[in-house]
Amino acid sequence: MKPETTCVHAAKSTANKSHTTGAVAVPIFQTATFAHPGFGQSTGYDYSRTQNPTVEHCEAVVAALEGGAGGAAFATGMAAIAAVMELFRPGDEIIATDDLYGGSIRLFNNITVKNGIAIKYIDTSDLAAVKAAITPATKAIFIETPTNPMMKLTDIAAVKKLIGERDILLISDNTFLTPYLFNPLAHGADVVIHSGTKYLSGHNDTLAGFVVAKTSELAEKIHIVKKTTGAVLSPFDAFLVTRGIKTLAIRMEKSQSNARKIAEWLKSQHRITAVHYPEMGAMLSFTTDTVETAQDILNKVELILYAESLGGVETLITYPATQTHSEVPEAERLSRGIDEKLLRLSVGIEAAPDIINDLERSML
Ligand SMILES: *Cc1c(COP(=O)(O)O)cnc(C)c1O
Repeated sequence: MKPETTCVHAAKSTANKSHTTGAVAVPIFQTATFAHPGFGQSTGYDYSRTQNPTVEHCEAVVAALEGGAGGAAFATGMAAIAAVMELFRPGDEIIATDDLYGGSIRLFNNITVKNGIAIKYIDTSDLAAVKAAITPATKAIFIETPTNPMMKLTDIAAVKKLIGERDILLISDNTFLTPYLFNPLAHGADVVIHSGTKYLSGHNDTLAGFVVAKTSELAEKIHIVKKTTGAVLSPFDAFLVTRGIKTLAIRMEKSQSNARKIAEWLKSQHRITAVHYPEMGAMLSFTTDTVETAQDILNKVELILYAESLGGVETLITYPATQTHSEVPEAERLSRGIDEKLLRLSVGIEAAPDIINDLERSML
């Protein structure tokens, strides 16, 4: 099945197993608990922290799209990443992309490290650097590609080759490209993470997170962390994500084609000194000639919304220096090019000329 078909039809079978009405949309099982038919019996559902049909349906859709053995849904993307970190023990080392989502850096530096796990940040797009960073204590390589906000790419298949037979989990945060454009598991990753808040739900109306594992053993480990720590996705939010995914393919096509046009247009503007766009997806960042120009754009945009987050139908503009990356130490932030002249755009599905007009007007 092609991904656009999977988006629409993926988990029909799993949802229809539990009910027989023929409902085309997945029903919302808004229940905390499930009654047992008799002593020692279970319907397969006991308590919604452990399993819920609406949530399972959504997990199956995301797992099918990523080609994994199983998926787990969480309340947010950060809850999903925190759950994956529970797979490690004191003394373990994790190598991570240095240009990560700010929230992941906050989690690693404040919580993961406190649990005795060392994090080594490196430029994972540099394979020699990855090779040099691997030690006998390395238990995982955590990759974000393209990175946020500098859009650097890491070759997951090449990193997998470097790992070889070592017992190192290759984890990829695939929020930016989505399973419609890229499948990390097919390139050698063991675990894929999503902030479902972004493209999967796609409408800036819900928070969600997903972990998809390549093997069922790994999926079971994540499931145990999920039911034990409890940051699960609610049935209603699972319904919204499943509904959002039905249009993932057409939203990605439209926002990607808009992003290509906007990147081209930005390159021709005298006030723009650099455009970072990896030629795929719908995220881009750009550098303005002065700090004033950057702040002017934020003040003057009307159609484009000055807001954190990404991946929805609305075009959003963010200021990484004070928003997503405000907690990254200044020297580190500046060394990566995340300065006061950098703006990040999550391109939506509006008409490209309308988005361009709004940017042009704000740059005057
Ligand atoms: C937003 C985001 C997260 C965190 O997800 P939340 O749903 O906001 O908790 C993690 N990784 C990336 C790449 C993100 O963009």
